[in-house]
Amino acid sequence: MTPLERALRDRILSEGPITVEAYMHACNGYYYATRDPLGAAGDFTTAPEISQMFGELVGACLADCWTRAGKPADAAYVELGPGRGTLAADALRAMRSSGLEPPVHFIETSPVLRKAQAGAVAGASWHDDLSSIPAVPVLLVANEFLDALPVRQFVGGLERKVIAAAGGLAFDRDGVISEDSPARNAAAAQVASHLAANGGVALIIDYGYSKSAPGDTLQAVRGHRFAPLLDKPGEQDLTAHVDFESVATAAREAGASVTPVAMQGQWLERLGIAARAEALARAHPARAKEAESARKRLCDADQMGELFKAIAFHSPKWPAPAGFEP
Ligand code: SAH
Repeated sequence: MTPLERALRDRILSEGPITVEAYMHACNGYYYATRDPLGAAGDFTTAPEISQMFGELVGACLADCWTRAGKPADAAYVELGPGRGTLAADALRAMRSSGLEPPVHFIETSPVLRKAQAGAVAGASWHDDLSSIPAVPVLLVANEFLDALPVRQFVGGLERKVIAAAGGLAFDRDGVISEDSPARNAAAAQVASHLAANGGVALIIDYGYSKSAPGDTLQAVRGHRFAPLLDKPGEQDLTAHVDFESVATAAREAGASVTPVAMQGQWLERLGIAARAEALARAHPARAKEAESARKRLCDADQMGELFKAIAFHSPKWPAPAGFEP
């Protein structure tokens, strides 16, 4: 039994069943605080860890938007859940070539990952949440952040819970499941209010679906494989697909302008990933195959190209970023 499983069983025995939302919150809090989960030796890999092209295109997209907004001198780079800091390092390098060197603010709760981020990006500041970000225009990125925030599950209108069972944990009910995520909608609304009040743009990239629909999308991943949800609490990554329609509505209601949802593959192609892969191949002929296979992995429909989606929120006073044309 994992230490967290023992703690959760004790909590359930004294307080009663806990919601799926509380279970996911407890598991991921413990999981991220105790390890670097990324990469071949970890549990999963993300787009910026696959290729530098991802972060470079994100940086170029933000720099272009900032330029068209009139180059506000006080703009800051903000990233939610920056992982190892790889995306930020690649994006900031691309921004520098457009004359943009913003101060960096990371929203990160994990002490292990804060340390990795400090190694990747010099001079950043860290925050537990968005409330302490300065009141300036922001160039904000969140890649695979919202999927880690907890979802609620419902079966026949009743909220699904986790109970203590012989030797472990179990769900209190099964059946046709639907989900929602107040935590995600709150994060989207908080980003949007900041944009509406101070200016800026936010790029949100994650796996999920464009239109709200019922379904059970909660999943556990350990060592690059799916695992049963209630196995080894706190020792595996729990995520659920992002309902982009729902976060878009939350952002719009909080005062931001919102772009249409784009497929990740389509978005990266519009931002020029093919030319970027060719330039990389020319600069490093020995790595030409690697650049091409990374491009395919990020963009092809049967890989990350369609399951992953991108959406942008922006201040109504800022232009929409490139790549989201309907
Ligand atoms: N964006 C990175 C890492 C994705 S993993 C990449 O693309 O590689 C999810 C990240 O979100 C981790 O950095 C994790 O520690 C952070 N995280 C998860 N839940 C969080 C929360 N509630 N508050 C702040 N950070 C959180």
